[in-house]
This record gives sequence, structure tokens and C-alpha cells, in this order.
Amino acid sequence: MKKLFILLILISCAPSKDKSTMETKKDESFWKEKLSPAQYHVLREKGTERPFTGLFFNHFEKGDYACAGCGQKLFTSTAKFESSCGWPSFYEKSIPNAIEERMDRSYGMNRTEVICSKCEGHLGHVFNDGPKPNGLRYCINSAALIFFPDTINK
Ligand code: FE
Repeated sequence: MKKLFILLILISCAPSKDKSTMETKKDESFWKEKLSPAQYHVLREKGTERPFTGLFFNHFEKGDYACAGCGQKLFTSTAKFESSCGWPSFYEKSIPNAIEERMDRSYGMNRTEVICSKCEGHLGHVFNDGPKPNGLRYCINSAALIFFPDTINK
């Protein structure tokens, strides 16, 4: 009995798996079921939606934008600006560790891909032609985002 008790304590004290690792390791069938075809194409196949077609390119309500894959908060509306490029554009991410960058040499171009740090979903690219204060333009596919309106400070 005492051995069983000790065993139970050891099991309950074992480190739980890191949630972010678990999100990343979801297999493609999980994502196909969870996401719409457009979300899946962008987030899991690194697709790009056609410009001026997404839900948020011309959307300027106050609120937060999160990853459509895992729900991690990525951007706030205060950093969104009208870039005329046809995709939602932000000059900064809302949390430093929310977005990772990767070199993207596809299609004969040198671009910096941005992905969600939690689920590794493809979001879009970041360019150096954004406005002040930092000159960045996070060019993000609407299909990679879900929006949570700020109902308090509307
Ligand atoms: Fe994510």
C-alpha cells in the first residue's frame, strides 16, 4: 500500500508536457479537422490569400488579433495600419515571443517568414518598409488570424 502511495506521488509530481510542444506536434489530420480550408492552406501549407480578399485587410476595429490555429495573441489593433498592400499590416507584434522569424528563399525572393511561436503556423512575412516608430510591416494573411473585439474600450 505504501509503495502504491509513493508511486502515485511520483506520477503526480512528474513534469507535465510543455503545451507549446504539444500544439506543434499535432498531426496534419488534426489541423485539417480544426481549420477551414483557407486557414489550413495559409497556416499549414504556407499559402497566401489573394490581396484585398481577406476579412481583415480593411478592418480597423479596436481589439486583439490571435492565431487562428492555436489562439495565441499576436497583434493589437493599435499597431495596425493602412498599408494599401491588400493584407492586414501591423508595425509590431504584441508579445515579443509570440512570433518567430525564418528566412524564406521561395519563389526566387529573399523574405522573412513569420510564424506563430506556439503552433508554428505560417502567418505571412515581415518587411522593412513599415511606418514609424520601428519601420516594420508585418504583412499577415487574414486567414491566419481571429479577431477579439475590445468591448471595454470601444
Ligand atoms: Fe498558433
